[in-house]
Order: sequence, then C-alpha cells, then structure tokens
Amino acid sequence: MILVLEDGLDAEGLERAERAVRRAGVDPRRMLAQGGRVAIHAVGLPRERVDEIPGVAFVLESAPPFKRVARRHADEPTHVVTVRGVAIGGTEIVLMAGPCAVEHAEQLEESARAAAAAGARLLRGGAFKPRTSPYSFQGLGEEGLRMLRVAADRHDLAVVTEVLEPNAVGLVSEYADMLQVGSRNMQNSALLRAVGRQSRPVLLKRGMSATLEEWLLAAEYIADAGNEEIVLCERGVRSFDMASRNLLDLAAVPLLRERTALPVAVDPSHGVGVKAAILPMALAAVAAGADAIMVECHPDPGTARSDGFQALTPDELARVGAQIRTVAAAIGRS
Ligand code: PEP
Ligand code: MN
Repeated sequence: MILVLEDGLDAEGLERAERAVRRAGVDPRRMLAQGGRVAIHAVGLPRERVDEIPGVAFVLESAPPFKRVARRHADEPTHVVTVRGVAIGGTEIVLMAGPCAVEHAEQLEESARAAAAAGARLLRGGAFKPRTSPYSFQGLGEEGLRMLRVAADRHDLAVVTEVLEPNAVGLVSEYADMLQVGSRNMQNSALLRAVGRQSRPVLLKRGMSATLEEWLLAAEYIADAGNEEIVLCERGVRSFDMASRNLLDLAAVPLLRERTALPVAVDPSHGVGVKAAILPMALAAVAAGADAIMVECHPDPGTARSDGFQALTPDELARVGAQIRTVAAAIGRS
C-alpha cells in the first residue's frame, strides 16, 4: 500500500514514519504521490498496522495492474510449477541445459547426456528458432521436436522448447513438456493467449527491453487465458555497453519475488553471452534466489549453427552443475 504523508512533514517526520514501517517488518520506499506529496510505498504492510505509522494523511491501496499473477500477501509461498514431475519453485534449484538449436541427432544426444550428467532436469533446444536475421538457421521444425523427445526420454529429462506462433502451439505441445515464449515474443498477445489456452507449463522469457510490469502483464495474458503454470525467465536486457550481449538484471529476481508468487528462472547464457561470465552469473542467480537456471551447451561449440560463442562444453556444464549445488546448499536449497 501507499502511505501518503501529511503536508509539510519535515525530514525528521519522514524518517520517523519510515522507522515505524520498518518496525512493522516492511521495507519502506520513498515516492512522490499525485500532487507532489511525499509518500511511502510499503509493499505488504498489513492494514491493521497503519495506525502505528506517524505522519500518515491517508492510505492508497496500490493494487497492481496484474491480478492473477500478483503475490497475494507477503508470506505467500512460491507457486510450484511441475514439469513432467520436476518441481520448479520448491527447494530444489532446477537446471535446464541444452543447445541453442537442435541441429542433428548426435549433437542432441551428446548435449542430453552432458545435461543429465551435470544434474539438469530439463533439456532445452530450439526446433523453431526466432533468429534476428531471416538468413540465419531457422531450426529443424518438427524433425527437431522429435529428436528432442527421443534424446530427453533416453536421459530421463523433460523438454522445454520455444513456440513461435499460435498455430504451432498444438504441434510443439505434442512433443514438449514445457513451452517457451522467447524474448522477441514476450508481447505477442495472440501467442500469449494461445499458450494460455492449453495446459503445458510455460517458460516466459523477459522481453529485451521490457519492464518488470510489462513482463508480469505478459504473464497475466497467459493466466487470464486459463493457464497459471508459468515460470518467468530473466535473460538480460539491452544496454549501452557492448562488452556483454545483454545486461543480466539479477535484481529482477528479488524484485519479482515481491510482486508475484510465480517461480523465476535466470538464463545467463543469453543474459551475458560471454562464456567466462556464464558460470559466475549462474551462481549469482542462485544466490539471488532463482528457482531455475537455463544454460546453453554444445558438444562442439565451434561448429554450432547458432550461439556457439556462448555455448558451454560438457565439462564446463558439469562445473556449472557442481558449483550450483555448492551455492544452493549455502542458502538452504538443493
Ligand atoms: C533461446 O532461449 O533459445 C532464445 C532465443 O532466447 P531469448 O528468447 O531469450 O533470446
Ligand atoms: Mn541461443
């Protein structure tokens, strides 16, 4: 809620109010309310404790514009999304790994083997690729989906793969356990509604210049169409600095936590796009509270038909899996 403070309250009065909010167990944030009045945004402050806060003129309930995916109260636990028996949002941090694109059966088999050996529970890989250029490899289509299913089944992994258009949702869900809506489609409302009308869980990646509110409203489209089994995936946003492919916004993880009970995944592969930074950022994501980590790997990154520069080798992937376990244990997760 928003506590609009009395007109003319001095700095000391403001600090007194903030201290009282803190005593009520809530982190206060200063803001300007309409008309230039000073206010405190107190997310999750119980109504019955407002009387303890000095200097409050009146209270505004700040109902978020997203309703179905909004966290209902401060202690609401993370909603667990189950993908073929794998719980995302529980105590276990789930690793999703695989190539950027499905290229051929042997590449996928080796990727699946590496993923399983590293402790991954989901195999990722694009059969329909949303490439920036129309001349780049677009994926193998249904043949790629079939290969994903075979390789995943052989290694007891679930499949997450991207769907690009509403007409393909039926086909992709015949093979996949989880449907990915990619960054470029985060605001494709027809696609969001289409994945909302079916029952497979959805991995919704953040648009490359989307605010948290826009992202949550995209999730709201899916939930409003009938499917609340959604995992949000941070994958970096555009920035001015070409030193990395994107700017991985790890603060989004705790900030989403306050706003929604949906589980949050982090994809450091697209998020930084620089190999040396992927392991440290995967670990930082776990420390920040991510429920799942998605990384790209390839048995021979030099020959990859897409994103080879950021693909981990099987050995590098094994290191990510092992070190995630160490950080997870340090914060009481597995
Ligand atoms: C992907 O995960 O294959 C992908 C294309 O990622 P993004 O949508 O985040 O760019
Ligand atoms: Mn990729």
